[in-house]
Amino acid sequence: MGKPSVKNVMVTGGAGFIGSCFVEQLVQEGHRVVVFDALTYAGHRANLAAVESKIEFVEGDIRDLAAVRSVLAERSIDWIVNFAAESHVDRSIENAADFVHTNVVGVFTLLGAALEHFEKLPANKKSEFRFIQVSTDEVFGSLGETGHFTEETPYAPNSPYSASKAGGDHLARAWFHTYRLPVIITNCSNNYGPRQYPEKLIPHMIQCALAEKPLPVYGDGRNVRDWIHVSDHSRGIYLAALKGVPGESYCFGGRSERRNIDVVRGICRELDGLKPRARGSYEELISFVIDRKGHDWRYAIDDVKAERDLGFKREYGEFETGLKQTVRWYLENDAWVQAVMKESAR
Ligand code: NAD
Repeated sequence: MGKPSVKNVMVTGGAGFIGSCFVEQLVQEGHRVVVFDALTYAGHRANLAAVESKIEFVEGDIRDLAAVRSVLAERSIDWIVNFAAESHVDRSIENAADFVHTNVVGVFTLLGAALEHFEKLPANKKSEFRFIQVSTDEVFGSLGETGHFTEETPYAPNSPYSASKAGGDHLARAWFHTYRLPVIITNCSNNYGPRQYPEKLIPHMIQCALAEKPLPVYGDGRNVRDWIHVSDHSRGIYLAALKGVPGESYCFGGRSERRNIDVVRGICRELDGLKPRARGSYEELISFVIDRKGHDWRYAIDDVKAERDLGFKREYGEFETGLKQTVRWYLENDAWVQAVMKESAR
């Protein structure tokens, strides 16, 4: 396949962890990017520092129909890639309201504006238009000791977060089925890598360890997640936009199933090597805490379809290599951690 034509891409939620990585890749590929982001506690302009001069940034909420409409019309948008979401399961268990508002109502608003825009496009632009709904493997529910999620797995979300993502995905699917809006849904496993907000497992544990605080591991730590590096996930989404078939969904995983306790021990080992404690190992800080309510046991993805149909390949084969790099990134970027935490506290 030759080089794809330059696209005008609206990346909603592009100031977050995965969105900002995706934006960097789009810029590298030569596309024109408008980041549309409400800058919640999880969204930060600092995440876009490397590409700031090459993109346009619009502060806006996906629930704001007029704001979405004006970006779509004025920037002649070819692709909408929706990362905007409330994304933290623990927060959804505390209070699900923002999750329903953004992940369901926000997606509904975005779909409505996208359809209006799509219907006005000339035929050649219509055939290239894509609405990519970035979703999670958590919508499939929980696995036992064996098996994998695929594109055929029925949705069975268990947490308020995954239920709200499933709600948005169902709307997106319906907008394809009913109105032929060219929607593609992607379902991905747990992401890790630079610039993940320090509430998620890996950066949270790193910050606790560096502060000599207990490392809180839910239950007995034996729950399993499949880890994918954020840059591999971003490349998968790009391939889905480029080569995916409207109406289809694509799963992406890391082929790196790990028990939570082993991820935390891995972080401790890296920190022991890179920034040893005065005495002992960081592992001594591990502290088992009461399990998360409704904690899903295991997630795992079979992404053969993405490999076969999109040519998807992971660059980060070995989770431990990516983890080492990630731990190093957090050690070297404490200024980023402090800045985003300070900004979020305002
Ligand atoms: P994140 O929390 O780091 O970023 C979310 C971004 O969305 C932030 O920049 C935030 O400001 C923005 N946002 C939130 N509400 C908004 C609204 N109403 N309008 C506009 N912008 C809004 O999340 P992330 O980890 O980068 O995840 C991005 C997407 O990928 C989410 O949809 C998430 O469900 C999905 N996903 C995440 C993972 C993971 O492991 N992190 C795995 C699979 C799928």
